[in-house]
Amino acid sequence: MKIGIDIGGSHIATGLVDKNGNLISKESRDINISNISDEKRVEDLILEIIENEITILLEKEDLNVGDISKIGIAVPGSPKGNCIRNLVNLHIKEFDLGTKLKEKYKVNVKIKNDGKCAGLAEKLYGSLRKYDDCVFLCIGTGVGSAVFLEGELLEPEQNPGFEFGHMVIDKEGRKCNCGKNGCFETYASMKRFKLEAISRLKMSENTVAEEVQKYIRENINKKDVREFVDEYLTNVSIGLANIINIFEPEAISFGGSFSYYCDIFLPILQEKIEKLKFNKDTKTDLITAKLRNDAGIIGATEI
Ligand SMILES: [Zn+2]
Repeated sequence: MKIGIDIGGSHIATGLVDKNGNLISKESRDINISNISDEKRVEDLILEIIENEITILLEKEDLNVGDISKIGIAVPGSPKGNCIRNLVNLHIKEFDLGTKLKEKYKVNVKIKNDGKCAGLAEKLYGSLRKYDDCVFLCIGTGVGSAVFLEGELLEPEQNPGFEFGHMVIDKEGRKCNCGKNGCFETYASMKRFKLEAISRLKMSENTVAEEVQKYIRENINKKDVREFVDEYLTNVSIGLANIINIFEPEAISFGGSFSYYCDIFLPILQEKIEKLKFNKDTKTDLITAKLRNDAGIIGATEI
């Protein structure tokens, strides 16, 4: 049995995955670092949460530590070797988490960027199974991605790469966290979508994502809602057309909270990219990711 761990900006989910990619059982816990300023103590907390989740999972399934054949970790940023690195939300610069888990559980531990892990899961077991040349885009707080050509995940040597979120689509556009202006992420992210929806559609400031979605669904035929959604998708389509022109994928699969809107967004996007793509005979299916929140855990066990 393999263990997959998905470290997010505010929670850690750990799962038991069998050899066929089935998630057998899952535990998830929030990481509350609001009272912790010391990087070392955040590291201890992460380790404690993971070990605790593994213990619960093994107990639930009546397994022993010896039954674990491998541990895989999906993490944001640019992990290297056994280290997770540059986790801004958790104030971690570099933490040798892999070595700690290796010592404790005496198994092989692998770490990879979370977008690549989720993409791998979709490629092997989910929405992208039947495609060779394809792209996975996880649009949530930011934009994660994985690119496959001839069935293989593309993996540059120095960093995970394919930072589509920081592809500039307007040189005088919105300021991005990375310091540049007009990054794709500042237009496409669902965090930004929610903030813009609240301000443009005059919702109360503390409206949560589910309420924004409900409002948009119920009022999609109203002029202001339709125009807002159309403008958002025009920006998304510019980024997508760039990706399509470079990789000529047979499909792009969308994960993250964007996927909750796929039934509304994808037909409109499909129409927009037809006009923007360079090679008119390229056919790219726009599809919804299948494994949703479990993709990171499942993919982590395949690295
Ligand atoms: Zn940026």
